[in-house]
Amino acid sequence: MQGTRFGQHGGQYVPETLMPAVIELEREYVRLKDDPEFKAELKELFDNYAGRPSRLYFARRMSEDLGGARIYLKREDLNHTGAHKINNVLGQALLAKKMGKTRVIAETGAGQHGVASATAAALLDLECEVFMGAEDVERQALNVYKMRLLGAQVHPVTSGTATLKDAVSETMREWSQRVHDTHYLLGSVMGPHPFPMIVRDFQAVISAEIKEQCLAAEGRLPDSVLACVGGGSNAIGAFYHFIEDPSVELIGIEAAGRGVDSGDTAATITTGRLGIFHGMKSYFCQDEYGQIAPVYSISAGLDYPGIGPEHAALYDSGRARYVPVTDEEAVQAFEYLSRMEGIIPAIESAHALAYAMATAPHLGKDHIMVVNLSGRGDKDCVSVARYRGEDLHE
Ligand SMILES: *Cc1c(COP(=O)(O)O)cnc(C)c1O
Repeated sequence: MQGTRFGQHGGQYVPETLMPAVIELEREYVRLKDDPEFKAELKELFDNYAGRPSRLYFARRMSEDLGGARIYLKREDLNHTGAHKINNVLGQALLAKKMGKTRVIAETGAGQHGVASATAAALLDLECEVFMGAEDVERQALNVYKMRLLGAQVHPVTSGTATLKDAVSETMREWSQRVHDTHYLLGSVMGPHPFPMIVRDFQAVISAEIKEQCLAAEGRLPDSVLACVGGGSNAIGAFYHFIEDPSVELIGIEAAGRGVDSGDTAATITTGRLGIFHGMKSYFCQDEYGQIAPVYSISAGLDYPGIGPEHAALYDSGRARYVPVTDEEAVQAFEYLSRMEGIIPAIESAHALAYAMATAPHLGKDHIMVVNLSGRGDKDCVSVARYRGEDLHE
């Protein structure tokens, strides 16, 4: 990373009114991140509240059934609130508190990051307001209820397509109007610098633990690490401490939706082009006029039209590979892991599992593969059942 960028990507493409906010955030974060007291408080929250370290679980049945690589699952699904998102929200909520802020605002798509933000805000006694596309507010009544139950206020956003990308834009606008007491608790490794760096640092605990746990279990590093990519936070968290270990292959799995040529896709690296949006330069799904294209995936957590700038740079340099997986393949993996290991994975994580299922049989029995299980799948049962033609009346 040089300055505010990863290679040609990243930067701070924000209006003048937001520059003081991102400059203050960077200054305060750099001051606090190595502060022993901040680190101790965050570690105590990770350990005693989130339940870290999460297990590195050897999936024996799955490995034997596929007949190739030895597959380990990094169990982020076992964290409090059921996903990796808690790592980021605890880090940023603590940061906000130390910066003297009394209020956090957040964007959310399907509501997972909104619920996580409301959770951290409740714990650390911060006011919390969540901006959510009006379409999504309609579709995600349960998560809206959870956010309110946790004490947050939910604002439906009606501009644009009334979905996630509009919620992000609205949250940035709100932040520029009220920086003095408000922190923008951004949900993935995206947006203007310093967010991609901050969110990555809080998620990097995942790869730090994988490294230690794999060395303890196998006496060496894994050969490959797989993770699904929406904005890219669980993936960069799983990759980060292996970037300087060239023997470890890093593979990000994108949501292809109904197929990369179907027009109904969220596979940014496969179908996107270089652009500038939401404060950063990176790859984005765009139409022929360079407008941000509508994206689609069965997985609400993966249907963001961009990818974090550090991933874009890892792709450019060839250090990581990015591959698409369709709805159908992800649903099959969702069902497979449930039956094979008694673990219902998040439909996002099922994308990474699908690629593991496709490739593991062709790898040797000495190949150690780690799949980041970014979350648990309770939230996805209704939509997977519907995909299979079953109506659960929820
Ligand atoms: C939100 C979410 C994702 C996608 O976000 P990233 O920033 O790409 O990690 C993936 N998996 C789960 C379970 C999620 O909740």
